[in-house]
Amino acid sequence: MNTQKNDQIPKREDIWLLRKKLVRWFRNNKREYPWRHTEDPFKFLIAEIMLRRTKADQVKPVYENFFKKFPNIKSIISADINTINNILYPLGLNKRYSKVIMLAEALLEHHNCRLLLKRAELKKLPGIGDYSAGALLSIVYKKREWIVDNNVVRLFSRYFGIKLRGEGRRDNKIISIAKEYISKGDPKKSNLALLDFSALICQPKSPKCKSCLLKELCFYYKNFKNYNQPNNKLKVINIV
Ligand code: SF4
Repeated sequence: MNTQKNDQIPKREDIWLLRKKLVRWFRNNKREYPWRHTEDPFKFLIAEIMLRRTKADQVKPVYENFFKKFPNIKSIISADINTINNILYPLGLNKRYSKVIMLAEALLEHHNCRLLLKRAELKKLPGIGDYSAGALLSIVYKKREWIVDNNVVRLFSRYFGIKLRGEGRRDNKIISIAKEYISKGDPKKSNLALLDFSALICQPKSPKCKSCLLKELCFYYKNFKNYNQPNNKLKVINIV
């Protein structure tokens, strides 16, 4: 058995097989959230800001409340700070309010509320990085664009046994896998399947390996399946 972690990008056929399995799993296990159904890119990006370091189930009522009160960009810019803060309060008060306002202002001032269709353009918006740009393009516009968040890094690194150097979300091997992974036919579905599976099954501290549909092919499972037994030195790896 090969216990050496991989420094190579996996074969494309292996990446496609992973996608096929995840998309099939997704049919009966997908999570439903309102921002996954919106065709309004602004709403999607605001949801992305709300979702940072916050559970999606916690965001759902706040998202619904927020857009009932502020249906468009202009209504946010002209709103009273306290009203916005009160709505966002359940998510924690940190800097979310200012990020929402900065994003609304940038879209209004520089783009006249028009949609941005390129990753590089989207990344110039305040608070929008590679993940949010890729998620918007693939989920709202259904373009063949990659996404990598910490959950995706964890799944890819465990499943393929990828050796990470530095920050996983910027690792070239992980990004190459994410690019190869996206389906031409249905990028939205394949990326959502990746997000849901990595969040629900391949969890950081307690991956559900025993019931995982990928276990027979998974590097992590094959090499470390006894990781939770006493005296086993091979502990959980690549926890992101
Ligand atoms: Fe993740 Fe375990 Fe499944 Fe491998 S077998 S993909 S580590 S849950």
